Formats: sequence, C-alpha cells, structure tokens
Amino acid sequence: AGTPLYLGIDFGTSGARYALIDRQGAIHSEGKRAYAPVGDAAGWASSWRAALFQLLDDIPPAHRPFISSISIDGTSATTLIVDSETGELLAGPFLYNESFPDALPAVESIAPANHTVCSASSTLCKLVSWWNTTGAAGGAGSAAVLMHQSDWLLWLLHGRYGVSDYNNALKVGYDPEADAYPSWLMSQPYAPMLPSVRAPGAPIAVVKDDVCSQYGLSKECVVCTGTTDSIAAFLAAGTTEPGRAVTSLGSTMAIKLVSEARVDDARFGVYSHRLDDTWLVGGASNTGGAVLRQLFTDGELVALSRRIDPAVASPLEYYPLPRKGERFPVSDPDMAPRLQPRPESDAEYLHGILESIARIEAKGYNLLRELGATAVEEVFTAGGGAQNDRWTAIRERVLGVPVRKAEQTEAAYGAALLALKGADRRVGVPS
Ligand code: ADP
Repeated sequence: AGTPLYLGIDFGTSGARYALIDRQGAIHSEGKRAYAPVGDAAGWASSWRAALFQLLDDIPPAHRPFISSISIDGTSATTLIVDSETGELLAGPFLYNESFPDALPAVESIAPANHTVCSASSTLCKLVSWWNTTGAAGGAGSAAVLMHQSDWLLWLLHGRYGVSDYNNALKVGYDPEADAYPSWLMSQPYAPMLPSVRAPGAPIAVVKDDVCSQYGLSKECVVCTGTTDSIAAFLAAGTTEPGRAVTSLGSTMAIKLVSEARVDDARFGVYSHRLDDTWLVGGASNTGGAVLRQLFTDGELVALSRRIDPAVASPLEYYPLPRKGERFPVSDPDMAPRLQPRPESDAEYLHGILESIARIEAKGYNLLRELGATAVEEVFTAGGGAQNDRWTAIRERVLGVPVRKAEQTEAAYGAALLALKGADRRVGVPS
C-alpha cells in the first residue's frame, strides 16, 4: 500500500487550490482552479462546486485511493442558506465582503456592544437580513439551514447537514470560549437554522459513495471540519505554540500571534480565534507592500535592498500608508501617510521605509502584549515581503526576536494539516 495522504482545499478570494501532503508534511501534489461565476449569486455556488470537483479530477488518479482525509477552508462570513430536505440553495451565496446594513440595527439590539457580529458584513447580519425579508414569512419552511462556504463545500462531499467549525462560526455569534451559542442568539426565531459547531479538523463522516466511486477515493476517506482562509494560511506555517507568530507582508501588514489569553479590542480591530486550547490573536495595519509598490518596481526593490546594511538603524521616521487612515496599532481614521523627508539616495529612502514598517510591526506585537496576549518569541513571515532578506534582518533587530520565512504559506497546505489532524481523530466516525 502507498503512504496515507491528506487533502486540503482552499477557497480563497480569487480561486481554489489543493495541496496533498503526507504525515511528514511533504507535498505530493498541488494545483489550482480559477472561479468562473456566471449570472446571479447562485452562479458563485455553481462555480465553487465546479472548481471543487475539477480539483478532485486534477489529483493524479494513483494518489486518490491513499487519501485518508479531506478538509476545506473558505472565506470568512461567506454564507449560504440551504433547504435541508432537498439540498437546494434557498439564498446566497452572500459573499464575505457583501454588506447588509439593513440588518445592523436588529443585530446591535441583541448582541453585546462591539461584538464581532456588529458589522454589516458579518454572517449574522446576512442571516438576519434574509430572515427579515424572506425567512420570517415562512416560505422556506423549517428546513432552511445556514452554511458557511466551507460547510457547504464539505457537505457536497459528506452529505450531512448542520456541521460547522468554531472559526467560521465566530461571525455568526458563536462563543468559542464557552463552546456554545450565547443565549441572546439562541432565543432568536432563526436559531434553529444555526449549525452545530466542532473544532476545526474534526472528523464529520466518510465521503459519500457516489463521490468515492466517481473519483476513485477510498471508502474510508473521512471529511473533516474546515476553517477560514486566513486561519488556514496561518496554520500552513505549522507553528501553534504560544509566543509564535506569523506576519503577512503583502499589500498590507497582518500579524497573528498564538496566545494563552484571549484578547479582543474593537478599537484596534483586534480579535481572537480559538485554536484548540490556545488563541490566535490578530491585528491588521494598512501599512505594507502597497506603499512600496507606489514608489518602486519589484526589481528596484531587490536592487536597492542589496545596498542596505540591515545592522545599521535608519534615522528616518516614516508612517508609510497608501492612503489616509490607520486602524492598528494606532486607531486613527484620519492619520495621514508620512513619507517625508525623502533623502537623495533611493537606497536610504527604502531603508527608512522598511525600518519604519518594522517599527509599526514591533508596535503591533507590543500592543497585543499590553492588551494581555502572550509575548512574541519568534516570527515567521508570509507574503511578498518574506522574500527580502535585508528586511528580515532589519525586522529581527527591531523586533528583538528571531524572524524567518515561513516554509509553507498556502492556505490549502494549512487545510491539509487540518485533514491530517482529523484523520488521527477518526475513531467512531459514522460511515
Ligand atoms: P497581496 O497578496 O497582499 O497583494 P503579496 O503577498 O503578493 O501581496 O505581496 C506583494 C507585495 O510584496 C507588494 O506590495 C510588493 O511591494 C511587496 N514586495 C515584493 N517584492 C518585495 C521585496 N523584494 N521587498 C519588499 N517587498 C516586496
């Protein structure tokens, strides 16, 4: 027999990817498919379904019988309403960034102040908006259920209704600390639509017979609960000890820190997701690579960076932003970008900018600490900025902890790690 393999599939904002790994974490196969939605909202669901099955088709047939488990991550707060008698889509998908301000007053009237559901794009606002326009009238009967994007995609594989994970369920109001829905939510008329919630990477059921036979999967292959795309990307780095962190240096800068304590602060947009027995605390700044791209080409960035001595601190104090406004680690919607004075040397200018972004990163980790999170001990880097060794050295000096490039950063890889976790817990899975 071949080596057992674990399949992770990521449904991100621009396309779907898969990664097939073994127990040691080595990638045996990977691939991607773009979405091609046609028509109305339901077109999105059809394009996701098509991408899911295309990816299964893309996996080399020789590997397929050895897949022990599958997990899928999706974009957070992407929501579907499905008829649990027919499997038919009743409404949505409502995409992660779609806003339902009509539902906000009702949600604010039931949820605690500053709760994560009190945002017009939250899953709960999507549910309440649908309920108030359609659901309450009873047209959907009692069979309507709420699914997150990854719940729905996993359901296409296992066929059971009403299972989700506590990362996806956070934005519908699930309390991951109590591991229960709060009473203010349970008392609502739409509460019966809410899924039951498990840890990410919990085995749900084996793959449906028809899917197994069509794709040549093992009848033992088990489908496991998923997570959100940004948590899956964090999990890819493979580091879940308190004090470990991942900084994503893409167009913007996002930091995620594993902490023993849960930390939430709406002023700074800081909130925590549960990771088994620890918390993943996150914050996102508007600084990052977008500013670099306004000033230099990627080629210039490489050439100029070579002329920087990262051991020397730049005296230039900037606050690089692509436009006005900052949320974390300073909450100021009117903050103006500060990129002056510009020295004659472009290398010195870039040094000042990279050093300033590093200071903002350090300030971010310090703020999380002040809010009660575990102190950062080691930082892994993802995103375009991870390629820049000089910047890494600058950040190491400014942060005062080891900084290195994350070996794996694809969310699909993180989802595959969840599948591996689920395979180890599959005892007693219904088949
Ligand atoms: P996103 O997915 O958020 O758009 P990426 O992770 O693809 O971003 O990273 C792109 C960013 O990385 C760009 O904004 C660019 O400025 C930055 N970048 C690319 N090359 C370098 C480099 N050598 N040094 C620093 N930043 C870089």
